[in-house]
Amino acid sequence: MASDRRLKVTIQLKSPLIVTARQVGFVGESETYIPGRVLRGAVARIAAQEGKDLNRLFDRPDAPRFGHAYAGRKPPVGILPLTARTCKRWSGFRRDAQDDDRHGVWDTLVSQVSGDDGTEARCPRCGQGTTPWGGRPYVAIRLGGQWRYVSPTPITQRIGRTAVARERGAVADRLLYTLEVLSQVMDRDELEDSGEPLKATAKFHALVWVDGADPWPWDRWLESVHHLGGDRSRGLGWVTVEVEAEDYTGQNVANAAAALSAGTPSPPGERAPDAMSLLDRILAFNQVLYAFLSEGDERRRYWYFTLDLQSDAVLGDVRGARYQVEPADLGLPPSVERVWSLAGYTQTWGWSDAWGLPKPLLPALAAGSTFLFRVPLGDKELAREVLERSALLEREGLGQKREEGLGWVQVCTPFHLETEVRE
Ligand SMILES: [Zn+2]
Repeated sequence: MASDRRLKVTIQLKSPLIVTARQVGFVGESETYIPGRVLRGAVARIAAQEGKDLNRLFDRPDAPRFGHAYAGRKPPVGILPLTARTCKRWSGFRRDAQDDDRHGVWDTLVSQVSGDDGTEARCPRCGQGTTPWGGRPYVAIRLGGQWRYVSPTPITQRIGRTAVARERGAVADRLLYTLEVLSQVMDRDELEDSGEPLKATAKFHALVWVDGADPWPWDRWLESVHHLGGDRSRGLGWVTVEVEAEDYTGQNVANAAAALSAGTPSPPGERAPDAMSLLDRILAFNQVLYAFLSEGDERRRYWYFTLDLQSDAVLGDVRGARYQVEPADLGLPPSVERVWSLAGYTQTWGWSDAWGLPKPLLPALAAGSTFLFRVPLGDKELAREVLERSALLEREGLGQKREEGLGWVQVCTPFHLETEVRE
């Protein structure tokens, strides 16, 4: 079976790293994460050095899928959905109960879907307007006896470059340019005891899904990566990579299917947000959603799940781009309906990874886009089929370029449970 071995990859920066997102005038702006295509390209170079046929390794349906790598002391729980909001004036996660600079982040999907949308328009703390806060990775940390969330970010720095006009050996004005690089230090989005922002060595976390039947040493190749991105000759992009492998074992969906189809979801006790299984997440989501619906509400005749984009997704084919995620395209049974969505639109660079040629911009659905589906109660077999399909979608993703990190999804990202700000 394809994609049944999950490699947890940690990349530590030993020098600044160039991952150019776009060129704006004479400035090359950096991405805030390491795209899956960059890690994939580095592994491909190592495989090529060992004489492997790259097409055979990378150009096949069961090829490994390299996810984007995000900054943090530990891997993110997920990407904040576009339904996450924060105070317009004092934005961001509260770092402790005394934080006066930030009024917190909460999710509005459940309140919007249940029709009780009074909570989202105003900040619960100061009463001012709010602004969307989705699309960022979020990490769960234990602080003061409870779980809190942070959004660690890499720190970028700018370096000047001059291109020398060859014929005269002189620096030509027109060839001065600036590059943004990711620094070896990141902002943990936490405070020191003194109240100063905590910094740490920049670490990035990614997942790589591989086929357990592959004869190739993906773990060793990943750990042999010591360089990422461009400008190696100038000492940029040196890294160390650690890999922890785990085999995917299917979950026993029978109990969850029975509880969901009976309309009595109850998750098995409180778990750390990043330790919740797919089934824990779906059960907890339904429990919270039901709590917003009155007993006789006919929306209680269904159970629900969301599909949350963890990276930009390029859907559609040569006939044109698509911007909706339809149940049939996801391989879900016909009785599953999409009932609500909040999608963002973007464009993604079509870089062709290891082989280096730029491709045209592709229209894409943005990371953080969220789609809500419902399934009628009373059919355990249907529930089982939907749960199994959901697990497959998390492993295999959607649309084009999944092998380079696009189209990754999470079902019921735990942030949808955060209907109020954590103090
Ligand atoms: Zn506020």
